[in-house]
Amino acid sequence: MHRIAVLLALLGTFLALGAQAESESAADDVRLLATRRLVIPVVGVTRSNLRDTFDERRGAIRHEAIDIAAPRGTPVVAAGDGRVVKLFKSAPGGLTVYQFDTDEKFAYYYAHLDRYAEGLAEGTMLKRGDPLGYVGSTGNARLGAPHLHFAIFRLGPDRSWWKGTAINPYPFLDH
Ligand SMILES: [Zn+2]
Repeated sequence: MHRIAVLLALLGTFLALGAQAESESAADDVRLLATRRLVIPVVGVTRSNLRDTFDERRGAIRHEAIDIAAPRGTPVVAAGDGRVVKLFKSAPGGLTVYQFDTDEKFAYYYAHLDRYAEGLAEGTMLKRGDPLGYVGSTGNARLGAPHLHFAIFRLGPDRSWWKGTAINPYPFLDH
């Protein structure tokens, strides 16, 4: 009986330490991302035009991105510095770009593009504000509602471009 109580106490401590470590790494992410001074990745859109759509439900799943509405063909630019890792076409995202930040800790994801910027290729190094593509409605976006779907992921240790932990971009898009 006593031994079980000790084990449970140890387990509780272990779980609490795990949760603490997780929230500390989330706080580190926030600090690091804030130093990137990300720009709003759609030309002509200002902070007051943005709406935080990160927590909205889209069917059974959480949106985990921000939708930035703009007319079709509006230039999309890199939110931060970093390398284009993958140009990918998917059923939900349509024409997409995955870009890693310079430390390769985060991925920036741009979806529903109408087309890519001329010359854009995997491996291209972009500076914040460099052209990357144009707003569109490819993938599962409604034809009459072109927008950029923009997400930020914390990459895992294997730095796979297709998986990571979503971070809400909204608080960081203040330039
Ligand atoms: Zn979206």
